Amino acid sequence: MYPKVVIDINKFKHNVNSLIKLCNKYDINISAVSKVFCADEKLISALIECGIKEIADSRIQNLKKFQDKDVNKLLLRLPAISEAEEVVKYSNISLNSELETMEALGQASQSLGKAHKIILMLELGDLREGILTENFKYTVKEILKIKGLELAGLGVNLTCYGAIKPTPINLGELVKFAKILEDKYGIKNPIISGGNSSTLPLLINGTVPSEINNLRLGESIALGKETVKGTVIDGLFDDTFTLEAEIIELKVKNSVPTGEICQDAFGKVPVFEDKGKIKRAILAIGKQDFASSFPIPLNKDLEIMGASSDHLIVDITNSKINYKTGDIIKFKLDYGSLLGVMTSEYVSKEYI
Ligand SMILES: *Cc1c(COP(=O)(O)O)cnc(C)c1O
Repeated sequence: MYPKVVIDINKFKHNVNSLIKLCNKYDINISAVSKVFCADEKLISALIECGIKEIADSRIQNLKKFQDKDVNKLLLRLPAISEAEEVVKYSNISLNSELETMEALGQASQSLGKAHKIILMLELGDLREGILTENFKYTVKEILKIKGLELAGLGVNLTCYGAIKPTPINLGELVKFAKILEDKYGIKNPIISGGNSSTLPLLINGTVPSEINNLRLGESIALGKETVKGTVIDGLFDDTFTLEAEIIELKVKNSVPTGEICQDAFGKVPVFEDKGKIKRAILAIGKQDFASSFPIPLNKDLEIMGASSDHLIVDITNSKINYKTGDIIKFKLDYGSLLGVMTSEYVSKEYI
């Protein structure tokens, strides 16, 4: 069945093992992030076979998928107060920044009789989640009063909303606050979670502060990339996942539409480059499957022209391969399109 995403388990495991080796060198534990592949069952098993001890996801629905597995389950997205019970039920540890939420988690923990740990997130420049550092002491004191919760450490998230790079300076701030947690509040060996795949370039060049003892890695595992510049890390695979889609129309047509331009299916007014007549293929896959980020054709002579919800239009004029209707075109994926195809129930999965 097409469209189909083909997943190479050996390449996946190779990336996991390489990252474990790199992180072991610096005594860093990996929380393997499964959200980009929706906690796919076979990939979760592969993580565990490689020796991963903690798996992290943004959504409880994904954490539920591997409840029976003997690994720590970390909830990455700040819990919603309304889901506090579910959070305690299905995860052992969560990232937090709101006292009201932590109080709700504490209550849930007591009523369910199940322990729950907290990593307190600090805002260090990127402006996504995290408490302002000026509120650090107050917040810690309040958390320590909450029954049912264990404050296990501190974390930071960078290179997301604000596209702020991890540096020895902002990670040094994190370490400084972790020392306060240890010295002033008696939290022994706190988890110090120094970010996501964007911290890897610093780790590789040896400038991550040595106190950092955890990273939460998603994209580097799935796509082999660090996320500061999006380059492939030496020795890792960026083609663990390939997408295959089928040609359902192949015709020579004008490159510019004829008639009066209004708005497209998504309310945007499109602009077209006049390339004269071109040979185009329509593939049976669309924005419903890869969201807004286009997959990348493996054949470099192909150019993506655009897509609607169920159709992808590709310029094949310069292709040396003589495609015909019914042929399959293969693509690599970036983060956005991988997230899309793994989420889409219309894309089948094959494991090799
Ligand atoms: C998604 C996410 C990660 C993983 O980021 P990658 O860039 O995929 O490694 C880490 N931490 C948090 C809080 C996240 O939401």
